[in-house]
Amino acid sequence: MDAIGYFRQPPATAPQDEQVLTLQEQEEQFFSFCREHGYQPVATFMDPIAGPGARGFRQLREYASQPDRGFTIVVLSAVSHLSSDAREVVERVLDLEQTGVQIALIGDDGGGDRVEAALDYWREHRTQSGLSARAMDSLRNKAMRGFGLGKTPYGYRIAENGRLEVVPDEAEVVRRIYAMYLEQGLGLRLIARTLNDENVFTRRGKRWSVVTIRDILRNRAYAGTYLRFGVRITGSHEAIIPTETFREAQRRRESTPSVAHSGKEGGFALSGLVYCGSCGGRMIGVSRKQSWARKRDGGRSEATYRYYRCGSRVNQSVCSYHTWRSDDLERAVLAAIGAALDPAIEQVQDTPAAELRTLVQGRLKVLSTRFNRYLDGTTKGTHDLVRLRRLSYPLLREQQRLRDRLLDLDAAGGIEALRAAWWQQQRERLQDLTAHWPTLPQEDCRLALGDLIRRATATDGALQVELLG
Ligand SMILES: [Zn+2]
Repeated sequence: MDAIGYFRQPPATAPQDEQVLTLQEQEEQFFSFCREHGYQPVATFMDPIAGPGARGFRQLREYASQPDRGFTIVVLSAVSHLSSDAREVVERVLDLEQTGVQIALIGDDGGGDRVEAALDYWREHRTQSGLSARAMDSLRNKAMRGFGLGKTPYGYRIAENGRLEVVPDEAEVVRRIYAMYLEQGLGLRLIARTLNDENVFTRRGKRWSVVTIRDILRNRAYAGTYLRFGVRITGSHEAIIPTETFREAQRRRESTPSVAHSGKEGGFALSGLVYCGSCGGRMIGVSRKQSWARKRDGGRSEATYRYYRCGSRVNQSVCSYHTWRSDDLERAVLAAIGAALDPAIEQVQDTPAAELRTLVQGRLKVLSTRFNRYLDGTTKGTHDLVRLRRLSYPLLREQQRLRDRLLDLDAAGGIEALRAAWWQQQRERLQDLTAHWPTLPQEDCRLALGDLIRRATATDGALQVELLG
């Protein structure tokens, strides 16, 4: 197997829990790792300086995307070596993955999910907004010393010295919750019911719920890790759950679709995106079950109708009855995007370089906001990793293509390349979406559409779309 190395200059102030290796040490580590595993080193890339001038990762990515490259593995010391920015670490892991390469981490042959490792890193190192620098420092200091902050997790109490201390009875319940979840494979609801039936209640004497059980299953404190305001302290207090068990619980949690998003009937792909052409109100998705007696044999037939109608009608009856069958309206929106792309692309052909730059930068901002939302969704548990990948891959492809061409803009032929990239990505996104429309969950269709259009306006029989940047 071919192996690629990527080395990055360590930041001057590295987080305490991180191994800091010089460029040369990283390189040596890479070659000895390849020797050990019988990999063939075929290329190495390096970012000796940080910041916008750093081209190493870009070159690595370009190399990885070559269509004729064989089975290739990218070797890293740790996921955190991909960027000094925690969010970018996740982005780059996903980005490398979607080019089809694998990622090997030196010193971690556990074979865990790389995106999960990157998300872990991001959750622990992202900067917390909304707090002043001084407040952050003080919290950080307290956290460093292992003092309990905020709500004390069930299973612990704050000891006299300010540290977390295990409460044996409660710790036993925590262990049982993990065992029920992982060994017996019970769902959150069933775990809550089991405990409630046994008259085992929360610290405040309340009944367990899906929410309180879920909080127990995702609190890192139980694995002995103290995580607060971006500071992770390992081994600051006694663990109740072994780290590996905790990780396993996170894996199961992330691979189980959450209740709110598993409904196939539930969502509507155009929710919040289509407006009524007559009154400007929002169109809303409605599904109705109908059943009727069959004449032929006297039995009953049943069918569900899905459609969109003007929302104004519901409240104030200001607008008359405008409805579209959901399939028709969705197909019409996709067709309208296709039709709107042609003139938009033509317009790009005539846009001067400076304007084009602004246009592309605007688009990159949209994509970046969108990606952040995907990450947040994953952290909150509304997306699982499968979904994060499905949503991010096309987005990251587009982002990378635009960024690359933007960097080339001032070179000869740069503007033509950027125009071509712009043209290509818009078309690709629409094709991608059209092809996957029937099989994609409604919510994913909606998110993907939101990357293409700002809004669609429906009048009886006609449809207009407003493309997004
Ligand atoms: Zn209306």
